[in-house]
Amino acid sequence: MGSNTEQLDLLIIGAGPAGISAAYAAKVEGLNYLVIERGLLAHTIYNYPVGLPVFSTPDELEMLPGTLELARDKPTREELLAHYVRFILEQNLRINTEEEALELKHDDGESFSVRTTRSQYRAMRVLVAVGAMSRLRRLNVPGEDLPKVQHRFVEPFPFVRKDALVIGGGNSAAEAALFLAEGGARTTLAIWPSDWENRDPKAGAIKAWVRTPLEREIKENRLQIVLFKRIEEITEREVRIETEEEARLLLPNDAVFILIGSDADLMLLRQAGVEIVRSERGCDVPVYDQETFETNVRGIYVAGHFTNARHIKDAIAVPRRIVPLIAQSLRAAAV
Ligand SMILES: Cc1cc2nc3c(=O)[nH]c(=O)nc-3n(C[C@H](O)[C@H](O)[C@H](O)COP(=O)(O)OP(=O)(O)OC[C@H]3O[C@@H](n4cnc5c(N)ncnc54)[C@H](O)[C@@H]3O)c2cc1C
Repeated sequence: MGSNTEQLDLLIIGAGPAGISAAYAAKVEGLNYLVIERGLLAHTIYNYPVGLPVFSTPDELEMLPGTLELARDKPTREELLAHYVRFILEQNLRINTEEEALELKHDDGESFSVRTTRSQYRAMRVLVAVGAMSRLRRLNVPGEDLPKVQHRFVEPFPFVRKDALVIGGGNSAAEAALFLAEGGARTTLAIWPSDWENRDPKAGAIKAWVRTPLEREIKENRLQIVLFKRIEEITEREVRIETEEEARLLLPNDAVFILIGSDADLMLLRQAGVEIVRSERGCDVPVYDQETFETNVRGIYVAGHFTNARHIKDAIAVPRRIVPLIAQSLRAAAV
């Protein structure tokens, strides 16, 4: 492992919309910055299903006004990904991909040291923008580790004329079920009754533009809905489900998609002594100043999906606000 003796002003961890936006703001401020990304550029978006039209409007997603080019009114995964990659290339942002941050700690004195899979860095300020997709949730049922079980959905083509089961109550599960049904798989969506009945967009209901075509697929018998209580077991050829009516259902099955959400990995923040609390939504969030996004550890900042500013719009907007404040604090410390 190499050691990098360069003293950075700002080290940014994660190159999703928040990390890319922060890199641009750091460049504008003339900071000596670096972004460390463990996967590819905008890896979370790279992991969206192939061809997915995203739900946000271009003005909420683009890095600079009027620069996201589209064929229709909403961008697809491919258009959004191309936009972020082009922005990084045009702005020549300093981002190391396929390098994971493993350890974040206070050095002696004012700065921090960050150990990665390739090197060791020192930085005066650290912005953690690792998103909330690190830990894909599991059902923890027998058979979940069979090769036919996936915790991500990529595309429907391998499943034409196959029995596919999607488990989950949110948009990702509903979208995957829709893609599979439209793409020619014999599809079942297993969903909790409370999720299926939920129509409140603020409480995470399936978006209307997914639900309407989903209901059409059900009506036309291309998609089956199972209101379930518990998945009992996944085997090579079947899935055994306990339904709401206490009945046992044995579904023939070739592929299972468990799409029940994900959690952030806040290990780096914990290591550095950042206080973490349980939010109303039941997930862990760091404690931070609502204006500056600085945590209780002075010099460590947070942005993006695992904070309360969750969507891409805020993941981009918050770094634009806070990086100039970080630059100011560095200038003040230098005099
Ligand atoms: C299918 C799908 C569709 C969505 N559609 C929309 C939409 O239409 N509009 C919207 O606003 N939001 C949408 N979202 C949510 C959106 O993707 C997130 O809000 C957004 O990606 C948050 O940006 P971020 O930069 O905070 O995190 P992320 O984009 O998740 O980026 C975090 C990055 O950090 C990297 N990383 C993690 N740990 C480390 C480490 N230790 N070292 C180095 N790098 C690390 C990750 O690889 C990742 O690239 C959607 C999500 C999904 C799954």
